[in-house]
Amino acid sequence: MFVAVFEPPRNGGVGIAFTDRLGGVSRGSYGPLNLGRTDTDDPSAVATNFRLVREALGVGRVATLHQVHSADVVIVDDASFPPDRPGGELGASAPGGLSLPLADGMVTRTPGLALCVRVADCVPVLLADSAGGVVGAAHAGRVGLAEGVLEATVAAMRELGADRITAWIGPHVCGRCYEVPGEMADTVTARVPETASTSRWGTPALDLGAGCEAQLARLGVPATHHGGCTLENDLLHSHRRDGAGAGRLGAFIWLARCPPTGVSATASAADTASTLPPTGVSATASAADAGGQVSLGG
Ligand SMILES: [Zn+2]
Repeated sequence: MFVAVFEPPRNGGVGIAFTDRLGGVSRGSYGPLNLGRTDTDDPSAVATNFRLVREALGVGRVATLHQVHSADVVIVDDASFPPDRPGGELGASAPGGLSLPLADGMVTRTPGLALCVRVADCVPVLLADSAGGVVGAAHAGRVGLAEGVLEATVAAMRELGADRITAWIGPHVCGRCYEVPGEMADTVTARVPETASTSRWGTPALDLGAGCEAQLARLGVPATHHGGCTLENDLLHSHRRDGAGAGRLGAFIWLARCPPTGVSATASAADTASTLPPTGVSATASAADAGGQVSLGG
């Protein structure tokens, strides 16, 4: 179910999780644990998948977005995502559900409300000031990254009082696999030079993860990478590999209800990356990134 998990008690009171394709109930090409594609997958299956993830993580509510490759960021809280919000994580895809915010970044100070961005090759970026009690999540694809979704998300967190922000960059298509036309590469590298890359076949490519890391560094935000390449790992959702039949993985971040004070997420990130035992290949991918192994603890 997860390619990487950080438990709140061992991560400064901030929970982090990146899902894989396993452990859900979707059928067909998506892989069982599809958390997006409510347009073509059975919405009730996607709703069940969210419930299974929430139960595994011990979180009650999840805020999601209608992602549109923008730099728009929304603040979410108890008012915007109450426990009984019609449609829940599926928004208008569920019968009678409310439309989700059109945006690609969100931030919150509300403990217990998990933020979730959904991707299949684009970069999920999770951010936290654990001591300050502010978390954020961004969908940073090629367009959103160049448009500045990370700058906007960090700015929104700082407006909420965040001071020392740490980032976790999740699974995405890597710079050796993300081949693009030369003109497109030039356009993006003009905005974010660190995205410049070459495919394993020697053609123009983009390294969106490197671009995210560099942009965050310029904002004073240190980042670590988790989960590896979506295209190369069959246990992860990849639009490049599976096309229209690709599902979506979820990147989750939440503040525990009683976060410890004065504990830096940065200090614990390197040695508390965890993987879950049911998926051996996932464990390999995560372990290669970040070492340690802890159980999710129910
Ligand atoms: Zn790759």
